[in-house]
Amino acid sequence: MKTTAIVLAAGKGSRMKSDARKQYMMLKGRPVICHSLAVFEQCGLIDEIILVCGQEEETMCREQIVQKYQYSKVKKIVPGGKERYHSVYEGLKAAGPDCGTVLIHDGARPFPDEDMIRRLLDAVRESGACVAGMPVKDTIRMSGDGGYAAETLPRDRLWMMQTPQVFSYPLILHAHQELMRLDALPVQITDDAMVLEYITGQKAKFVEGSYRNIKITTPEDLLIAEALSGGR
Ligand code: C5P
Repeated sequence: MKTTAIVLAAGKGSRMKSDARKQYMMLKGRPVICHSLAVFEQCGLIDEIILVCGQEEETMCREQIVQKYQYSKVKKIVPGGKERYHSVYEGLKAAGPDCGTVLIHDGARPFPDEDMIRRLLDAVRESGACVAGMPVKDTIRMSGDGGYAAETLPRDRLWMMQTPQVFSYPLILHAHQELMRLDALPVQITDDAMVLEYITGQKAKFVEGSYRNIKITTPEDLLIAEALSGGR
């Protein structure tokens, strides 16, 4: 059975405050999306890659990304959807029945690495569902009425969620199929582990990612990414 990486690049990136979308901005001479594609391309643990792009961006991605930078493991390029989980669902459908394990990765995170991928693939064999994450460094508090402090959350148990998020393929496909049947969602779903937990109750295991594995969300993240990729 295949191990497939789904790389998401269908977001609009409204927090970037720019017309150019973050996944296509240049980082060390290549579009941001190329950095994670290159890691999966070179990683012997990954058999194939599915790239999820914006509507009507398939040709641009094929010519300007996949062919230009020669990512031979990218087998399909499919358009995503309105919310992140719609885009994931399109990627999952494209993966097909010979997929055993699927890694879902934000194209806006340029620095996954092979050690992290290995830790995740080891963990998913036991648990069926695991996510990269790191303990938070800052104190995180909930705000209450009028912007005053409310609850304080116990810092030693708080993790920032990252990607890759890695699953047994039939398990996460089933969770997304069921999610798509629902008319409305009572919770905001921002990652794949939440889809699984919301639909099936199964919880994903946290696996150490890295503090380098940042997501480019706002303009200053691009400066941090430039600094992190300094030696590359
Ligand atoms: O918006 P956010 O930063 O959480 O997006 C994380 C990743 O998911 C990005 O790589 C973005 O391109 C992708 N995404 C997507 N389809 C959407 C929304 C986000 O592929 N509808």
